[in-house]
Amino acid sequence: MQVEQIWTGNAYRNFNYLIGCEETGEAIAIDPLDHEKCLGKAKQLGWTITQILNTHEHGDHTGGNDAVVDATGSKILAHKNASSTISGMDVGLSAGDVVKVGQSVDLLVLDTPGHTMSHVCLLSQTDQPALFSGDTLFNAGAGNCHGGGHPAELYETFVTQLNALPENTQIFPGHDYLTNNLGFTLDREPDNESAKRLLGEIDGVYDPDKPMVTTLALEREINTFFRLRSPSVIEKLRESFDDLSDNPTPKEVFLKLRELRNNW
Ligand SMILES: [Zn+2]
Repeated sequence: MQVEQIWTGNAYRNFNYLIGCEETGEAIAIDPLDHEKCLGKAKQLGWTITQILNTHEHGDHTGGNDAVVDATGSKILAHKNASSTISGMDVGLSAGDVVKVGQSVDLLVLDTPGHTMSHVCLLSQTDQPALFSGDTLFNAGAGNCHGGGHPAELYETFVTQLNALPENTQIFPGHDYLTNNLGFTLDREPDNESAKRLLGEIDGVYDPDKPMVTTLALEREINTFFRLRSPSVIEKLRESFDDLSDNPTPKEVFLKLRELRNNW
């Protein structure tokens, strides 16, 4: 399995992906909004794109579908409930399905509601697992729920699914918000040494065209939305919410953090 992470450089800071089978040269394009860059990269590598996977129905993830279908005849795969919102969708996916690319790539479908209610993530079935997380999990952050999602569902996705992945799982998100998200982590947890160190290294010099690939283990250190039992996160929340319980549940902490991030 070979992964090409494509930085669009657009205002929404989208990442697109190609995942290729090195044996057959077949590839799947994930959320290929910048169809020119995706098609150009495939051509450069000698790959044939045969499938498009949309993690969810938002236009900044589906907007390149038509051009890629026109150029390649690819099938469009997405969450089974997205057929009314993604035009031309060919294959509806459910949790546990496996998307095959060529002979060597198997991608397990996770049904991951929260950012929207028709959102899938893909988990590679490799020794070094990789998660293509769309707008569910970002580097050092979590997706918002403004466009048809629910924060409580996003919390469930985090604790029951993302939390259960192997520690060495690489994270490939739908957008680059790393610098901003580290700022939020430090706003919420000023004594987070890992976030401080990383932000010190990248602030002002980070180039998403050479993206940093985090792991779940690192996310547990630098991503506030995995740090729901941190005493300093909870203590800081009290300054913003005087209705916070004495011993808040992880869910309560997650929902308050999500609320604060909306206006941060
Ligand atoms: Zn979205």
